[in-house]
Amino acid sequence: MTDVLVAVAALVLMEPVTALAHRFVMHGFGMGWHRSHHESPRTVLEANDLFPVVFAGVTIVILAIGVYCDERAAAARPHRHRRHRVRRRLPARPRRRDPSPTGILAAPGRPAPPLA
Ligand SMILES: [Zn+2]
Repeated sequence: MTDVLVAVAALVLMEPVTALAHRFVMHGFGMGWHRSHHESPRTVLEANDLFPVVFAGVTIVILAIGVYCDERAAAARPHRHRRHRVRRRLPARPRRRDPSPTGILAAPGRPAPPLA
């Protein structure tokens, strides 16, 4: 459920971010690349297509840093994986049936069956 909320929040919050990026980055210092987007297309690719390439590169670097930091933090924590848990010690189970006539299984810690 948290993942869905994060995805919806990212979707909603990214709209104003992209509007601000268009206004201040693409129509600011990035106008050299962005101008091609507002002109009639002359080729299949235009200079404006470099923006998603650069933004994807920045995103990949940020994700890689996040994954690297998370791996280091996980390595520093004590193991919580199932196979590293200490198993609860169960009482020993009898290996074979009790030969007594009562048929009660003999087990360590269990009182001996009454003698007939
Ligand atoms: Zn524009």
